[in-house]
Amino acid sequence: MQLLESDDQSLERKRSVTASDSGVITQSHVIVDEGTVIFSEGERGYSAFLIERGEVEISVMRNGEAVKLASRGPGEVFGEMAIIDDQPRSATVTAVRPCQLLMITREQLSHRIEQTDPVLRMCLRVILQRFRSTLLRLQVMDHEELHLSDGRDTLDKELGPQVHDEAVREIKLEEELRQALRLDEFTLNYQPIVDLAHSRPVGFEALIRWNHRDRGLVPPDVFIPTAESSGLIVPIGYWVFEKACETILRMREAAAFRTVEDRLFMSVNLSVRDLADKGCVDKIRDVLSVSGADPSLIKLEITESLLMHQPEVAATALQQFKDMGLSIAIDDFGTGYSSLSYLHKFPIDTLKIDRSFTKGLEQDGETFAIVSSIIHMAHRLNMEIVAEGIEEEAQANLLRELGCTLGQGYLYAKPASEREATRLLLNAKETS
Ligand code: C2E
Ligand code: CA
Ligand code: CA
Repeated sequence: MQLLESDDQSLERKRSVTASDSGVITQSHVIVDEGTVIFSEGERGYSAFLIERGEVEISVMRNGEAVKLASRGPGEVFGEMAIIDDQPRSATVTAVRPCQLLMITREQLSHRIEQTDPVLRMCLRVILQRFRSTLLRLQVMDHEELHLSDGRDTLDKELGPQVHDEAVREIKLEEELRQALRLDEFTLNYQPIVDLAHSRPVGFEALIRWNHRDRGLVPPDVFIPTAESSGLIVPIGYWVFEKACETILRMREAAAFRTVEDRLFMSVNLSVRDLADKGCVDKIRDVLSVSGADPSLIKLEITESLLMHQPEVAATALQQFKDMGLSIAIDDFGTGYSSLSYLHKFPIDTLKIDRSFTKGLEQDGETFAIVSSIIHMAHRLNMEIVAEGIEEEAQANLLRELGCTLGQGYLYAKPASEREATRLLLNAKETS
């Protein structure tokens, strides 16, 4: 019987050879022949595997004899226990047909486990401990009892097909996102933020798009959650920041905006993971200096939930950004579980009123009262206000009456390519 590069540690080594500089974008498909031992009982485990093609058999040694526990086929995962609790492999896995496997590394999983609720994390450990001791007890019981009737263990049944399918989708999407970064499948669209008095752009918001080779354009709502839970949002976020810095310089050049008084900024969305990344502030500083973009041209958009989630981390990072000369906007304001007391604790320049408020402005008296209060409060705190999601002239009129000076929405323009956004900017300049 052939052994797969001796153990999965060597697979891990092989994998790290193909890793990119960031160490995040990696080749993680493995092809093995029939008869290959993928890993052996007692070894340390560094990765789990999703079977894309083929079949494997899981077995344990008892009295010097290999006893089959289960089989796994396409769409199923194996080897996950050892990478969750760092214990030796509890079984041997052998390919019984040629297999194509997708590797799931310990880092991929630890990103997610670190983010989960501590109680959930504890439960996961307890379940695993119990499962391992049950397995041990089974091994000292009669040989025959180890043959599970349908070749599937009870854990899979308890998990339910829905949970399983979701996890598999998530793992596949994560791999596709890594590829998208490698293959340069992301692009940015730009939506103008306009001065409501003259309907002229004073800035743009950079919004990511994924041009998938088979599926076409994938909207960010579909892939940003996976990018966040996998940690891939960090390299993606830097990519966005870099491109956005380059674009604002090109746009200003095209429109002959020479001085800082010629107001035209670029807003960039930052995720909770970007901020939690230890090197975030240094990286942003580096990108700014390489691109040559003046920090006063860049606004970072951060959601309320981020501030509430890790207030200390956020406060330190935001102050460093402010010291660098960047501006800070709170995105989707009014939708998070926020306490207003945080507003003066962070160096915030702009509040972006969420589009759900803009939508209800005309019909709903309470929404009108809330928006009016937010605008009033922002003025008192010396903050700028941007109303999101303006689709109708009537909404713009009401917002102007309430003292809101900036807005964004389909009424003015949908997010568009750099070329189209620049054309829009030039047209606005000509007609002013
Ligand atoms: P967001 O930051 O609130 O971005 C505004 C979203 O509202 C955009 O959707 C935009 O196309 C949409 N929108 C603008 N005006 C209107 C309007 O008048 N009506 C309606 N119905 N929608 C409007 P998009 O581009 O699909 O982005 C969705 C979300 O994805 C963003 O919400 C943001 O949270 C996230 N996102 C987008 N790009 C990035 C990025 O580069 N990094 C991170 N971390 N998140 C991003
Ligand atoms: Ca935003
Ligand atoms: Ca928003």
